[in-house]
Amino acid sequence: YHTLRLILGDQLNVQHSWYRENTDGILYVLMEILPETQYVQHHIQKICGFFLAMRAFAAQLEAMGHHVQYFKLDDTNNLQGFAANCTQLIERHHIQHFEYQLPDEWRVDQQLLAFCQSLGSSKVFDSEHFFSTRTELAELFTGKKTYLMESFYRKMRSKHQILMEPDGKTPLTGRWNYDAENRKKMPATLQVPPALQQIKDASHIVTLLAKMGVKTIGTIDPQRFNWPITRVESLALLEHFIALRLPAFGDYQDAMTDRDWLLFHSRLSFSMNLKLISPQEVITACIDYWQAHPETVPYSALEGFVRQIVGWREYMRGIYWAEMPRYQKLNYFEHTAALPSWFWHAETKMNCLSQAIGQSLEYAYAHHIQRLMLTGNFALLLGVHPDEVDAWYLGIYIDALEWVEITNTRGMSQFADGGIVGTKPYVSSANYIHKMSDHCSKCHYDKSLRHGPKACPFNALYWDFYDRHSDKLRSNPRVGMAYQVWDKIDGTEKAQILEHAAWIKQHVDGL
Ligand code: FAD
Ligand code: SF4
Repeated sequence: YHTLRLILGDQLNVQHSWYRENTDGILYVLMEILPETQYVQHHIQKICGFFLAMRAFAAQLEAMGHHVQYFKLDDTNNLQGFAANCTQLIERHHIQHFEYQLPDEWRVDQQLLAFCQSLGSSKVFDSEHFFSTRTELAELFTGKKTYLMESFYRKMRSKHQILMEPDGKTPLTGRWNYDAENRKKMPATLQVPPALQQIKDASHIVTLLAKMGVKTIGTIDPQRFNWPITRVESLALLEHFIALRLPAFGDYQDAMTDRDWLLFHSRLSFSMNLKLISPQEVITACIDYWQAHPETVPYSALEGFVRQIVGWREYMRGIYWAEMPRYQKLNYFEHTAALPSWFWHAETKMNCLSQAIGQSLEYAYAHHIQRLMLTGNFALLLGVHPDEVDAWYLGIYIDALEWVEITNTRGMSQFADGGIVGTKPYVSSANYIHKMSDHCSKCHYDKSLRHGPKACPFNALYWDFYDRHSDKLRSNPRVGMAYQVWDKIDGTEKAQILEHAAWIKQHVDGL
């Protein structure tokens, strides 16, 4: 071989131009290594999903005629590091040249940059996955005081001519944004289609992890693993989503219910984040279906979905590369508390949190509003250290990779960046949770009380949060309203609320 090409576990893109080239002299390498299983405690389904997908991808490349070296976690010659394993292959095969694709994580990027410095000849390629480059967002907002998702999203739509009128400048229908239409509560009678079943056996990976002493969180039914691990399965999931879930996606995007863990969400983040499928083909398939079935898919649902992928997903990546590595240390509110113990077992009388955490442990999945307005909201109100919150999110979700996890968690959800991602902290009392879900009706706590043993803990913590961060938030025009309400509450009531919040903080593990 003259060239060694490294494929990372989240670079399983068979459509990459690499694989259209002559394979002679090129050795591809994929590896399962302990540090990647240990930089945070991962959900067991997350590691199973990655390893199964990597193994299937290696087999696919071999079937296409490529030369592949695959290191399993327990292979005796596995040196458990990107650089160490690549070095042994370079030496063994007298390889002169090393190539890799741009990693999405800063941590891995640094490792590979350092590795390349030790080599004579190396080259890095684009991963050919995203709509924007690593630096495009930073360039777009040069000289501006803040980033803004909406202007970035419009720029992406125009640049890639997505949902645009033939003039190329006007958004289709004349409106860019249908967010306001996408906020309905789930009617009690509405049926949710069951999640697509793509069952396969993961027992051998579960056994491997136990043998190698890898500590994990969450549960798995080893013989009934249900995440897509190939491109074909990912495309089937996409098709299922479009036909059965996309039509109601917009309406119930922010809804939550005891009845179902997935609602009308796509579950495509895992496939996309591993690059089994591309964001371009996901939205193209949605747009094509909408064009063929305009009576089934409302335009607001289509636009809402496209916005998540062309807008939010790319925006988060752009901010990540503009702000790392300082971003991982930001703690705007100087929060220091620990996460409640029930984040690891879901045994809390708070129904909404028990549901959201319970399903996260069971499926390695929660949808956006559960992540933002239940677990994230509670952690922020409680004043949990953002490092703890980050570690939990980075571990528990099957789609969690730092470039998209940290900007969502530290930024959007914890406002630990002081307003880089968003313009205000996403916090709420029980009011919002009741408006968007049916959780409160089956809860031990009373959504309408602000203090006392039965009071919903979100309420006292919500006012306590605003009260203790008045210096940082009062002048924010998007938050001001909350202070108008707080200021009108009489002194005795205020004292009782704050006293109850202090009690909650001391007894949080027993809530
Ligand atoms: P759908 O609701 O079907 O949305 C479609 C797609 O849009 C998703 O697959 C995803 O690729 C994209 N998307 C939607 N919202 C966002 C967003 N805010 N940022 C980036 N992409 C978005 N997403 C991850 O992929 N990995 C993470 O580690 C992650 N951590 C999060 C942590 C917190 C605290 C929050 C609030 C959100 C996080 N998200 C993360 C974003 C979002 O919650 C998930 O992408 C989504 O829930 C995945 O499920 P889905 O594929 O069914 O999404
Ligand atoms: Fe959650 Fe409070 Fe509603 Fe209970 S009452 S479900 S804790 S918001």
